[in-house]
Amino acid sequence: MAELELDSITKVFHDGDEEIVAVDDVSLTIEDGEFLVVVGPSGCGKSTTLRMVAGLESITSGAIRLGDDVINDVKSQDRDIAMVFQSYALYPHMTVQENMSFGLEESTGLSDDEIGARVEETASTMGIGDLLERRPDELSGGQQQRVALGRSIVRDPEVFLMDEPLSNLDAKLRAQMRTELQRLQEELDVTTMYVTHDQTEAMTMGDRIAILNEGELQQISSPLECYHAPANRFVADFIGEPGMNFFDVDREGDELVSELFTYPLSDWMVDDLGDTSELVFGIRPEDVSLVDVASAEHDFEAVVEVVEPMGDENTVHLHFAGHPDSSIVASVGGLQNVSQGEELAAHIPEEAIHLFDRQTGKVLHNRRLDSEEAVDATL
Ligand code: ATP
Repeated sequence: MAELELDSITKVFHDGDEEIVAVDDVSLTIEDGEFLVVVGPSGCGKSTTLRMVAGLESITSGAIRLGDDVINDVKSQDRDIAMVFQSYALYPHMTVQENMSFGLEESTGLSDDEIGARVEETASTMGIGDLLERRPDELSGGQQQRVALGRSIVRDPEVFLMDEPLSNLDAKLRAQMRTELQRLQEELDVTTMYVTHDQTEAMTMGDRIAILNEGELQQISSPLECYHAPANRFVADFIGEPGMNFFDVDREGDELVSELFTYPLSDWMVDDLGDTSELVFGIRPEDVSLVDVASAEHDFEAVVEVVEPMGDENTVHLHFAGHPDSSIVASVGGLQNVSQGEELAAHIPEEAIHLFDRQTGKVLHNRRLDSEEAVDATL
């Protein structure tokens, strides 16, 4: 078991005369036994980062350390790192038993009996003990995924690297494997770096999440901190489904003014904002409540456009009254009766708003949480 450190890692690809900076000066440390999820949109540099750690891609600059050792120049097969791919990458002509034994035969001095015992034990942990004689084409996708995971676990590596390992599974199996993988990782206590573009996996699986955009690290924090205390607008937008509502606003004294609404601010809020006047106003859909008429300071008249019933909640798409081209989304309880065309008011509570610098995207103010204990428990 070991700590994995990426120290100012950069990767530049060359495509003719063009330079593509796939990973741009990323520094992060994954603690011993930690489960770190690396998440971001397509092309943000997730796989390249993982491949550099695995030794499958050279590093343009920076250092990767495993424990106390810099491993930049250590060959992939000598890194004591096991990687699980989206495609499973099983050998089609080998049985499950042979697929799982192969790495151990190649890289350890274990006897056949010892290897056999380890494979059997791991196969039974993974629930594939009765499939050892089958070949990959005789297995379902979920079973193949278990074999691929089992093949890495049996090597007992210092670090697991996983590149979208669940994305070929159907939704139900993916949810099941999510839980199973978390349980396994906790049990094995192996430092794990897990790449995905799926923010549900990021929120539910990681001890911490590292969010990348265009090769740059945006934030590395616990899932709930990324959700409630995003470092910038990109993170606020990327984490959360349905996404945060955003509006360009200008600060005028103790009011935020947009073409859609004027939002009065309390003194405690004004103190947080400093001198910046060009802002982006953010509010999560679940923080918008819908009331019959606008009667309070932060109530705004709105018209319901579409209601998406999800059972436990309704996702309600509205526009501000008099502004049919505007849009705000509210998530309300599944039993709250709201219908298309209804005229009502959207309540946007001041404790729940986020404000970002419109030029830099950096956060200036994040939502308040209920109490100090809630903050501690959440972050
Ligand atoms: P996805 O989720 O789509 O797999 P990703 O976040 O894993 O994306 P990477 O595969 O790491 O992204 O790619 C990052 C950037 O580097 C992209 O712009 C990609 O086009 C570029 N890139 C990746 N590999 C190469 C290569 N071998 N040659 C040139 N450019 C590359």
